[in-house]
Amino acid sequence: MTGAVRTTCPYCGVGCGVTATPDTAGGWTIAGDVEHPANFGRLCSKGSALGETLGLEGRLLHPLVAGQRVSWGAALDTVAARFRAVIDQHGPDAVAFYVSGQLLTEDYYVANKLMKGFIGSANIDTNSRLCMASSVAGHRRAFGGDVVPGTYEDLEQADLVVLVGSNLAWCHPVLYQRLVRAKEERGTRVVVIDPRRTATCDIADLHLALKPGADVLLFNGLLAYLGRAGALDQDYIARHTNGFADTFLAAGDDACDMDAVAAGCGLGLGEIQEFYGWFAETAATVTVYSQGVNQSSRGTDKVNAIVNCHLATGRVGKPGMGPFSVTGQPNAMGGREVGGLANQLAAHMGFTPEEVDRVGRFWRAPSIARREGLKAVDLFQAIEAGTVKAVWVMATNPAVSLPDTARVSRALAGCDFVVVSDCVRETDTTALADVLLPALGWGEKDGTVTNSERRISRQRGFLPPPGEAKPDWWIIAQVAARMGWGDAFAYQSPADIFREHADLSGFENQGERVFDIAALANIDYDALEPAQWPAPGTARLFGDGRFPTADGRAAFVPVRAVAPATSTSAEYPLALNTGRIRDQWHTMTRTGGVPRLSGHIGEPFVAINPADAAASGLADGGLAVARSAQGRAALRVRVTEDQAPGEVFAPMHWNRRFSAEGAINALVAPITDAVSGQPELKHTAIGLEPFEPA
Ligand code: SF4
Repeated sequence: MTGAVRTTCPYCGVGCGVTATPDTAGGWTIAGDVEHPANFGRLCSKGSALGETLGLEGRLLHPLVAGQRVSWGAALDTVAARFRAVIDQHGPDAVAFYVSGQLLTEDYYVANKLMKGFIGSANIDTNSRLCMASSVAGHRRAFGGDVVPGTYEDLEQADLVVLVGSNLAWCHPVLYQRLVRAKEERGTRVVVIDPRRTATCDIADLHLALKPGADVLLFNGLLAYLGRAGALDQDYIARHTNGFADTFLAAGDDACDMDAVAAGCGLGLGEIQEFYGWFAETAATVTVYSQGVNQSSRGTDKVNAIVNCHLATGRVGKPGMGPFSVTGQPNAMGGREVGGLANQLAAHMGFTPEEVDRVGRFWRAPSIARREGLKAVDLFQAIEAGTVKAVWVMATNPAVSLPDTARVSRALAGCDFVVVSDCVRETDTTALADVLLPALGWGEKDGTVTNSERRISRQRGFLPPPGEAKPDWWIIAQVAARMGWGDAFAYQSPADIFREHADLSGFENQGERVFDIAALANIDYDALEPAQWPAPGTARLFGDGRFPTADGRAAFVPVRAVAPATSTSAEYPLALNTGRIRDQWHTMTRTGGVPRLSGHIGEPFVAINPADAAASGLADGGLAVARSAQGRAALRVRVTEDQAPGEVFAPMHWNRRFSAEGAINALVAPITDAVSGQPELKHTAIGLEPFEPA
């Protein structure tokens, strides 16, 4: 591969390796990297279309203040001065950053250091809050740290793979391809637990179309069944865990008999018995979970209900065994490592006084934030309320992706000062900005990302910077310097930042944390091969039964089944589930302009069961208006038996550029999980009626 540049796909948490090779016509050929351990050369439809996204159409190429082109110096001076003025007048908690899993780890690190270490507020949160915050919280409760114990190979070594709230075929396609191959080669059993019949069900030996929100009941029922069946690993429970008795009792209270569990889950008794029997008898079991679990007002409890069953059977961190959270974004994991969430500090530290002091000493940051900041939904409500008066949005489009989008847009429109740094010129969010800062995009910027199996890979630039676009880390460091902290942000390259993060990870760490990446501090950054942290080659964690808790034991967490926060009613009789389609990414700011990707599904739609369609007067292919207490959207109707009666599905991708009224999150209420802060994007009570032209 003469001249090939090895980089990483920017779209999903599988984190596939990509090669970009110059062609004879002056363009680039994009292919899967056969040496990358995430994909071994495979790519999905989105990844293989990356070459069609490299043009400059729609790019933000110059800094703009109040819509006028200005120099970088003038734009940076404006941002620094306005943030400084708000902080001086109202204190550090009157400003905020809202960042993104699209940022590289080094960008994330610098943004966190500026906000938490030097501005002195923890008001920096990320769109990863919408994606996997419940898994983070569940893992911290169970394992003592935000750690995915397993590796992708586990899906190939398992005899049973349980997919919960995960349409792997469309949302993590290359991981799905690996699972399909494993099933062909070794006959892996696959159970899909999802209210919808999705594309992933094509390989399911059993599809449990459970009622929305019944996950905790289903897994509490499994825990009770495992006890009755003598399938618990009593030795593992005794030696490596705490809290089993209370958890088992709570599960038993919730799931006292199988008939009640089946009825509560909306499933047949035989289906439940089959799943429970397979789980009990199959040691090599992996349970994969994703947004269907996380995006819930009880998402953290759902994660712990799953993890409880793996702890009870001693199936954590061993080949072919374990609970496995798969993330939606390419760098959701990398952002978590450097404190990308408002309730975390860098290097996997939290806000205990010892951790705050440790990070503060390392950064030489005397005014470091000492308490958690506002999580995404709360942050935008604080903007609307006027307590946050200046916000910097980096590489994301919250005016489409957050719940209750009209309120988010109102909040930004009413905010005193809004900065957006992005590679895209026109989004629903850039339209509301006072200052626009052009950032490098994929193929132009350098740094690292971490995928769902803890594998750190390089993104490498192979294109020249377009216009005046700059790396995100550089933009943030320049603002920091203008606010008076130049010495702490004097980075010359992403490699400098990577090494500082690795050094912080090992700083004053007496070995009590198993997930520091200090071992990576001295590697040659430029030659970094994809490596799973903490040390290169750590495929699995906790296989020895030791966890990063005070006594080294994992925790069972008693959880009880609770219904979704909103109920259907006569006015809003249908439960809306939002999600993704195969060929679009997030709010379509990158994939929406690629004709062959839009050829898969070209319009926002709502999928509805035939009985509900008939009751609502809707016909397949017609137009419908969806209404909720929050807002409305206009959608194409798809009538399908894949939807259970009473439930509808609509994708979350469409922004106003591609559909004036197709943004489905306009309907979703800003209800969040009390532990994780993740919004309940999977359950909103709505009404549907035929669209009547005005
Ligand atoms: Fe990119 Fe994910 Fe597709 Fe891999 S599976 S090519 S990371 S979008």
